[in-house]
Amino acid sequence: MESGLALFRGECDAVMVPGCGDLMVGPSSLPAAGSPSLTKLVAHELGHYILGHDGVITQAVSQAEWTRGQQQRELDANAQAVEILVRAGDLTESEAVKIVADSLRRSADAQARNNLPLTPGHLPASAELADLLSRYPNAGVTLR
Ligand SMILES: [Zn+2]
Repeated sequence: MESGLALFRGECDAVMVPGCGDLMVGPSSLPAAGSPSLTKLVAHELGHYILGHDGVITQAVSQAEWTRGQQQRELDANAQAVEILVRAGDLTESEAVKIVADSLRRSADAQARNNLPLTPGHLPASAELADLLSRYPNAGVTLR
């Protein structure tokens, strides 16, 4: 679905291609092979795929509603990434939360250090991190 591709590509320069299961990552977003950032990226994008985030947000009738809907999708994909890493990555919940949280923490630090604009459809990475940790209060991972 072309609109789904455009939506995800603009969001984070990585996308699961609807209907074929391929993951496309733009060169500016490709982390080093074997790095925790790549693990998080793949799990997050698979999370979108599993959750069916492959098209437009049909209930959105305004840009503000689309933004809120997309922000919720990002939060849900982060949490789904944890579930994927536990089930397919053979990690404990704490290990999986730490991988996703560390990636969000690096993004939050980069956003603060470089005064980066927010990626469309995303809350600040610090807010995404806070949401993730609120979903896994027993993981033993903290904001810092
Ligand atoms: Zn995403």
